[in-house]
Amino acid sequence: MKSGTEERRVRGSLLLLMPLLLVATAASSQAPAPDDASASAAAGGAASLEVAQAAALDPDEEGPRTPVAEHVDLSEPLYDPAKGRSESTEVSAPGRDRAEELPPEPGRAPLVLLGESVQPATAVRLSWALDNRFEGIAVPTPVLVVHGRTEGPTVCLTAAVHGDELNGIEIVRRVLYDLDPAVLRGTVIGVPIVNLPSFRRGSRYLPDRRDLNRYFPGSESGSAASRIAHSFFHDVVAFCDALVDIHTGSLHRSNLPQLRADMRVVDVAALTEKFGATAVLHSIGAEGTLRRAAVDAGIPAVTLETGEPYRLHEDDIAHGTKGIQSLLNRLEMQPHVSIWGDPEPVYYQSIWVRADRGGLLFGEVDLGQKVKKGDILGIVSDPITNLRSELRAPRAGRVLGKALNQVVMPGFAAFRIGIPTTESELSRPGPNPALQLPLDQPAVGDEDENS
Ligand SMILES: [Zn+2]
Repeated sequence: MKSGTEERRVRGSLLLLMPLLLVATAASSQAPAPDDASASAAAGGAASLEVAQAAALDPDEEGPRTPVAEHVDLSEPLYDPAKGRSESTEVSAPGRDRAEELPPEPGRAPLVLLGESVQPATAVRLSWALDNRFEGIAVPTPVLVVHGRTEGPTVCLTAAVHGDELNGIEIVRRVLYDLDPAVLRGTVIGVPIVNLPSFRRGSRYLPDRRDLNRYFPGSESGSAASRIAHSFFHDVVAFCDALVDIHTGSLHRSNLPQLRADMRVVDVAALTEKFGATAVLHSIGAEGTLRRAAVDAGIPAVTLETGEPYRLHEDDIAHGTKGIQSLLNRLEMQPHVSIWGDPEPVYYQSIWVRADRGGLLFGEVDLGQKVKKGDILGIVSDPITNLRSELRAPRAGRVLGKALNQVVMPGFAAFRIGIPTTESELSRPGPNPALQLPLDQPAVGDEDENS
């Protein structure tokens, strides 16, 4: 029988080994029986286990070297279960040949992300995976990285935090595949589909019906949503110097391409000026949103809203892509700077116009349209009584969001009007008075936060 001290020591070293064994097991393609984790890891992930053991058994030695992300033929499957989670594939970005010719800038360090080392002037696909407690449920999530040849900021683009919002997926694809790693200054990290489980189910929500975008930055010991959020935030978002999280309107509603930003934060306000001709709506952001958590962690972040869920709209995609390319240009991350349009006005306030009667809603205005006080925004007609009611603009402003034609109940938020700040408000000395207005009041926006 071991002495108490010995037993504690043995148990202590086992505890130290456990995370490493878990990593090794996660790397294995075979789902191990819960009581046979180490044997299965030895069989299926021998190489990883050796690394893990080397690290565990020689604590005084240098730790295991981070593997360099390999370049693999793009035509190979992205994720081959037989090979495990550390698969990475070269993104076919233009300039790859030039990247091979141009040596990285002296002193430019590789980016170590998700357990792999991304060399300067390369583009790779990595994958973010939750730990093995999610094995069999969660799927490895592709993370595209273009690590430029020269030192500069790291800009992150995330889309489909809500699994039913498609425009952003295509925006991330267009931006990332158009970057030239040989001349890029800084790094762009793109995650086209953050919420892959929801995307696969065609749903906004996680399988447990939680909204992932209410759980950032998450916690290691909370709900499934909270653990997923924690993993993503710490493994990916923590590396960003700026974040653009791309969304669309909520179900059966569409948004004019616009930024949502906490304009009280100087670095965030500065970010909004770089998106070219894109409207900005001031909003602090609900607690638990990726944007809010990033800003709270000191990472300037904005939400880019564009279009509606479940649909791919070329105009919305083109606008979003152009806006982000404009951002990268104004951050001087690309050599050929083309500046797109003048910044659009900032709306510090907005109001939702709601239906007072139920019935069939027919919109009479377009997104982006300017309206005067009293203008008709839409008609609700009751198919049984043939009563018609008009929805009118209570103030002058611009249509930033609207419900699509559909059946509505009384109280349904149908049109979102951005209220311009008057010249006199803006010209007053001192802090921007618009920011002193009551902001993000419940009247402004429950629907706002659902986009
Ligand atoms: Zn969303």
